[in-house]
Amino acid sequence: MHNIFSKEEVYNKLKQLFSEVEFLLDEPMKKHTTFRIGGPADIYVEPSISQMVPLLRYLNENQIPYIVIGNGSNLLVSDEGIEGVVISLGKKASSIEVDKEDSCIYAEAGAMLSAVSSKAAGAGLTGLEFASGIPGSVGGAVYMNAGAYGGEIKDVLEYAEILDNSGQVKEVPVDELDLSYRHSALMANPGFVLGAKLKLAPGNVDEIKATIEDIKQKRIEKQPLNYPSAGSTFKRPEGYFAGKLIDDAGLRGYTVGGAQVSEKHCGFVINKSEATAADVLQLMKDVDSKVYEKFGVHLSPEVRIIGRNVN
Ligand SMILES: Cc1cc2nc3c(=O)[nH]c(=O)nc-3n(C[C@H](O)[C@H](O)[C@H](O)COP(=O)(O)OP(=O)(O)OC[C@H]3O[C@@H](n4cnc5c(N)ncnc54)[C@H](O)[C@@H]3O)c2cc1C
Repeated sequence: MHNIFSKEEVYNKLKQLFSEVEFLLDEPMKKHTTFRIGGPADIYVEPSISQMVPLLRYLNENQIPYIVIGNGSNLLVSDEGIEGVVISLGKKASSIEVDKEDSCIYAEAGAMLSAVSSKAAGAGLTGLEFASGIPGSVGGAVYMNAGAYGGEIKDVLEYAEILDNSGQVKEVPVDELDLSYRHSALMANPGFVLGAKLKLAPGNVDEIKATIEDIKQKRIEKQPLNYPSAGSTFKRPEGYFAGKLIDDAGLRGYTVGGAQVSEKHCGFVINKSEATAADVLQLMKDVDSKVYEKFGVHLSPEVRIIGRNVN
């Protein structure tokens, strides 16, 4: 993988240097994406926050390629897998601290939005109901400025704790993260979210829980939750809805291999049956060109496409 070392050499070196961390060789990424698609990561690891800092420093110093992911709910991973180290911030980096008096929550990057939202509800803090059904981590949500039902992370984020490429950890205030529709400054200037402080407001527990239940029902009703997917495949083009354009172009149910434009919600591509990344990419290409042909509007992907030979 590396210009000097093979993946086996890097794997052995990492195991030796970070003996308390579990590294996996050739780990299938389909096990770590909600699309259930993706070839092997050369090396896969789920560190804690304190393990992440020295690990990243080592990878940077030795120019070993890596990527940080969260719950894999917005990822399309190449069938040929991912070169280098995939660092997944998950269970070991998922503590959530609620400060009821100050109406705020500090969550580590691997905490699931659903868990943070439910803790907020239990503590009578309002503001995070919109995030309850988004199947991502706090880190992925900051990176993507995740949003739904009229809310987005931008509205509740006070600061994110960011580890930059030089190994420095900083509290970056929301204004400096340039959050807008499915966009953050982290997309252009790599930095890794270690945690986030969310500013909420006192509210009524029953009302907060009722809103969360209402959103859950809407998702069950409208989204193809019984199939693997990565949520909305395309971004909303200005002035349009991607799902409606796709439907109006006659593409409801359009299929390539095992991938399909959902019959239930045309904005979602689903993994209907053993789809490959190549199926999804071809389908996305076809959908974009048919929508463009009909309406003169291009669709750009919301899902992050990563791995070997996809860009
Ligand atoms: C059924 C379904 C419904 C969905 N509904 C919504 C919705 O309503 N609204 C919405 O916005 N999204 C939705 N999504 C998409 C997805 O859940 C969000 O984009 C979510 O924020 C991704 O978080 P993640 O932890 O899964 O990130 P991943 O998919 O693992 O990663 C996404 C991107 O974030 C980067 N990243 C992840 N963690 C970090 C970190 N700690 N530091 C730096 N970069 C990081 C990754 O490198 C990658 O580029 C949905 C997905 C599904 C499957």
